[in-house]
Parts: sequence; structure tokens; C-alpha cells
Amino acid sequence: MNELELSLKELATNLLKRDILYSRLTHTKQAELIDFAISIGRKQARKCLASGLNPEQPELYLKKYCQLEFKKHPPQIPIYSEFEVKNNKIILYLSEIEEIVQGLEITVDKKRLINLFLLHEFFHFLEYNSIGPVSRMRKITVFKFLFLEIKRGLFSLSEIAAHAFVREFSGDPVVYINANAK
Ligand SMILES: [Zn+2]
Repeated sequence: MNELELSLKELATNLLKRDILYSRLTHTKQAELIDFAISIGRKQARKCLASGLNPEQPELYLKKYCQLEFKKHPPQIPIYSEFEVKNNKIILYLSEIEEIVQGLEITVDKKRLINLFLLHEFFHFLEYNSIGPVSRMRKITVFKFLFLEIKRGLFSLSEIAAHAFVREFSGDPVVYINANAK
């Protein structure tokens, strides 16, 4: 999974490029949206740290707010983790995460890798239960005629913010998940 090797800005740019509304954004707008999403992720991370989150042991903190489930069987679609809004539950798919470990050249601290996924999904929990979806905070006009204007949110902004949230704890994730790192 090469996204672990990218800097946050590179990762954010990749995510925004995959957004269906990407072609409608000017360069200035792209940069502005990325900075916006990153600042939200960072701000939430600092709030969590201030209220007792230990990034090395995130389960203790997360369990106060939502359920955690570690599934051993593979998911129906290829995903590593998800946040189920209706059940208020973070689900991790351990078989998929194990594949990342096998695919990386470094010796991975599995516990820390799992922490990254837990924290990522916890940001989505915060979106639905506290701050609102980041994807809907900035909207782009997709259709305009007379008095009719249709706007759409940018799905990628939620992901960018979630990654920014995680990296506030992990710093450079490749170093963080390296079992030989301090
Ligand atoms: Zn996500």
C-alpha cells in the first residue's frame, strides 16, 4: 500500500484527483480545499489528544464513544476498515490488513498499523457524531441556470481530513509502523 509512503500533501492531492468533481476545480481551489480538509483533521486530533486519547492505545478512548469489531473473515469488497454509522461501529478486517503487512518490505509493528486504521475510522465517527461530514462543508456548483443552482460536496475532503487526523499522531506513518523504529 504505497499511500503509507506518501507525504500527507501528496496523498491529499491523489485523493482529490480521484474525486468526480476534480475537473471543476482550479489549481487555487484545489490547494485551498486540501488545506481546509487538513486543518480540520489536525484540529480534531489535537482535541482528542487534549481529552485523553493515547495514540498508542487508542482502543481505550475509542470504546467510550463507539463499538469496535475486529473481523477475521475477508470483507465483501476490498476494504481494510469502515465506520458503520447505523451501528455506531468501527470494523477492521484483519485479513486485509495482514496483506498490507505481507506486501511491505519493512518489518511492521502490526499493533501500530491497526492503530492507524482505528484512528482513521474514528475520524469518520467524529464526522457523523460531532463536526458533520467534511465532504459537505465545501460545495461545488455543478449546474447553474437562472434561479436553479445545484451544488455537490466533495467526497475526497472527508478522506483527506481523516488522513490528516491520523498523521497528527503518527507523523510519517512508514516510520511509525516500522517495528524497528523507536
Ligand atoms: Zn476513510
